[in-house]
Amino acid sequence: MGAIAGNVQRVMEAVAEAALKSGRRPETVRLMAVSKLVGADRIRQSLAAGVDCLGENRVQEAQSKKDQLAGLDFEYHLIGPLQKNKVNRAVATFDWVQTVDSLDLARRIDRSSARLGKRVSVLIQVNIGREPQKAGVAEEELEEMAGRLVDLDFISVQGLMAIPPYLEDGEAVRPYFRRLRQWFDRLASLQLPKVRMQVLSMGMSHDFPVAIEEGSTMVRVGTAIFGRRPPA
Ligand SMILES: *Cc1c(COP(=O)(O)O)cnc(C)c1O
Repeated sequence: MGAIAGNVQRVMEAVAEAALKSGRRPETVRLMAVSKLVGADRIRQSLAAGVDCLGENRVQEAQSKKDQLAGLDFEYHLIGPLQKNKVNRAVATFDWVQTVDSLDLARRIDRSSARLGKRVSVLIQVNIGREPQKAGVAEEELEEMAGRLVDLDFISVQGLMAIPPYLEDGEAVRPYFRRLRQWFDRLASLQLPKVRMQVLSMGMSHDFPVAIEEGSTMVRVGTAIFGRRPPA
């Protein structure tokens, strides 16, 4: 077995183990392979090993790789910031946009989806660590923003995503995961029309077991599958 296939298998086992440990069925947690800066050949190896969901953080890079991966079956997620002038291209390329952090961006994606006749699923990105350099809606604005998304017809709001502060020790990230989960439950309880809370995207290579224990339904794993990336 190749290194990537072995990594995929190990990560899938760790995902299942963390789910079972917290009394959840392993199928309730989806594994996304984060393939930013990874070439199409290595991505193909991950798909052959059972990955069915890929995350990219740059629209242009994603678009070119999508062409190279034509014919293969996977769900494609944007997990990096989306600039206004790239919305059309992003909507054409991705099935999901996980980084919606303003009403304005949501409206632009909605209009673009209408124009392209394509329904795009989105997650609201929350700045759960209140880090000024990071994208995401502030917690205190979350409810109001969600309430305004009900007017949009072409996007499908499916849940929340966050990139908590990077802390070496995954256990130290737990309080952030827990808070995001609380917002997820809170928004679900509001039962807003068209705003569903089904996907809670949190957890990366070094902290995904903790994220799963705190309720993650989708972990975004790059390094543990593809190895270290060149520094940005
Ligand atoms: C790069 C990236 C990941 C994956 O990080 P790893 O530590 O390599 O697993 C997850 N989420 C986002 C938003 C990323 O940009």
